[in-house]
Amino acid sequence: MSLRKYIFVTGGVTSSLGKGIISASLAKLLQARGYSVTIQKLDPYINVDPGTLNPYEHGECYVTEDGAETDLDLGHYERFLNMATTQNNNVTTGRIYQSVINKERKGDYLGKTVQVIPHITDEIKRRIKILGSKGNFDFIITEIGGTVGDIESLPYIEAIRQLKWEMGPLNSLVIHLTLVPYLSASAELKTKPTQHSVKLLLENGIQPNILVLRTEHPLNNDIRKKVALFCNVDFGSVIESVDVSTIYEVPLLMQKENLDVSVLQKMNLPVENKPEMKPWKQFVNKVKNPRHHVKIALVGKYVELPDSYKSIMESFVHAGAVNNCKVELRSLQSEKLNESNIGDLLSDMHGILVAPGFGDRGIEGKILAARFARENNIPFLGICLGLQCAIIEFARNVLKLEDAHSTEMYLKTPHPVIDLMEEQKGVTSKGGTMRLGIYPCNIKPGTRCSRIYDREEVLERHRHRYEINNEYLDRFAEKGFIASGINPDTGLVEIMEIPEHRWFVGVQFHPEYRSTVLSPHPLFINFVSEALKFRNSD
Ligand code: GLN
Repeated sequence: MSLRKYIFVTGGVTSSLGKGIISASLAKLLQARGYSVTIQKLDPYINVDPGTLNPYEHGECYVTEDGAETDLDLGHYERFLNMATTQNNNVTTGRIYQSVINKERKGDYLGKTVQVIPHITDEIKRRIKILGSKGNFDFIITEIGGTVGDIESLPYIEAIRQLKWEMGPLNSLVIHLTLVPYLSASAELKTKPTQHSVKLLLENGIQPNILVLRTEHPLNNDIRKKVALFCNVDFGSVIESVDVSTIYEVPLLMQKENLDVSVLQKMNLPVENKPEMKPWKQFVNKVKNPRHHVKIALVGKYVELPDSYKSIMESFVHAGAVNNCKVELRSLQSEKLNESNIGDLLSDMHGILVAPGFGDRGIEGKILAARFARENNIPFLGICLGLQCAIIEFARNVLKLEDAHSTEMYLKTPHPVIDLMEEQKGVTSKGGTMRLGIYPCNIKPGTRCSRIYDREEVLERHRHRYEINNEYLDRFAEKGFIASGINPDTGLVEIMEIPEHRWFVGVQFHPEYRSTVLSPHPLFINFVSEALKFRNSD
C-alpha cells in the first residue's frame, strides 16, 4: 500500500525562483530514501496546454511518452527522478475550464449554477487526486505555477486550502518558496518580502508548513529565527536555498538543509535512514570538475532565451559528465548566419547541432550550418527540423535538386523532400494535433546508430507534422546519406546518417526528452565523445 501523502509547493515574491527545481530536488531525496514519488505542475494560464505557445513565452514545450505537450518543469522532474511523466502531471486552467464547460454542456450539473467555487476548485482537486489514485505513490508533489497573489492562481490556492483541511496535517503540507533579497548598499538580507508573501497565503487561509528561501548569500541564524517567528513556522523548517553553479547540486543542498527530514517529521514518518545519493554525488562531481572541454554550436531561432532549448542543454550536461567533459554551447541565431560569416562562427567548433523548430524564419541559416558541418567533416546532430534542414541541404547541393525544400516553408517546391504526412493533410486545428509522443524505430544493423544504441528497436518521442519524403530515399542512399532508423509500422524515416562522414546523424524524433541524470541519452553521449575526438585530432 502506498502512503499517498500530498505536498503542495507555492511560490511568492517573484516568479522564476525555481519551484520546479526545489520540487524535483525534494522528490529526488524522498525517492533516494526508497519512496515512490511523482510531481505535478498546475499552470494557471488559459491555454489548454503549452503546445500552442511560442518558446519565448514559457520556454521549451516538453513532450511526454503519452504525447502530452507540457511545461518544461516536467523535463526537470523526469531528469531528476529518472521516470516518465504523463498528461496527468501537467494541468492548466484551460484544461480545467474545458472539462467543466464540457460537463455543463452535457447537463451533468443538473441545472446548478456553475461557479469557480465549488466547480472549478472541485475539478482542480480531482486533477490533483487522479495522479495519486492512478499510480502507487507515497508522495504526490503538486507545484502551483505563478506567484501567490496573482488573480489567476486564486482557485488553485483555494483548492489546496480545502485539500489540506480534508487530508489533515499528517497527509498534506505546504512548502512556500520565496526570495530574500540582498541590498548591497546596506549589505543586508531582507525578510520583509517573505513576511508579506506568507501574509498573502494566510489571507487565503493557508499557513505554510515549510519555507524555502532563495538567496544570493547564506542566511545566518538571526534571519532564520526572524522568518520563523514572523511566519509561524518552526526554526528547522526555514530552509536556505543559496545560488549554486549547477541545478543538479540543489538536491544535495536541500539534503544539507534537511528539507526531506522536515517533511518526514511533519508527516510522522521515520527519518533515521539517509537518502542514497551516492550516484547523484558522483554525477555532480563530474559536472563540476570536468577534465576535458569541447565547444558545440547550437544553431536555432529562439537562442536568446536559453529555456527554449532546455532539454537539449541538459542532455549535454548529462552526456558531458559521462565523457568527463564540459560542453560549452555556443548559441547561434540561425537568422544571422550567412555565407560570409559562417566560417568565422563555426570553424572552431567541435560539433554542430541544428535545433528543432517551426516556420521559415532563420531556415536558410540552419541549412547553411548543416552544409558547413557536412563539407568540413565536423560532427553534426540534427534534431527534427535540424534533420529536415540536413535533408534539404543534401538534396540541393549533392543531388542538385534545385529549390528542394520542405512544404512547410515552400508549398510549391518542385522537390518536396520534406512533406506533410498523409494523415496531417486535413488537419486545421493547431493544439495537440502533431505526431506526438512515443513511437518505435527499428535500427538498421551495421549502421553507426546500431553501434550507438546497441539495440534493434528503440522508442523515442516525437513532435512534428512533416516527414522525410520516402520517394527520394534511394537517391539519397546512392550518394551516401542513408536511412538507419525506420518506423516498423509506417515505414517513416526516423534516423538518417552519412557513414562516410566523421559523425553526421539526423533524427526525426527528440532524443533530448529522454536524457536523464542516471540514464543519459546514447546519441548525446556519442556525439560529445566524437566532438572530443575531433578536438583532439586538431
Ligand atoms: N516544423 C517541423 C515539423 O513540424 C519540425 C518540428 C520540430 O522540429 N519539432 O515537422
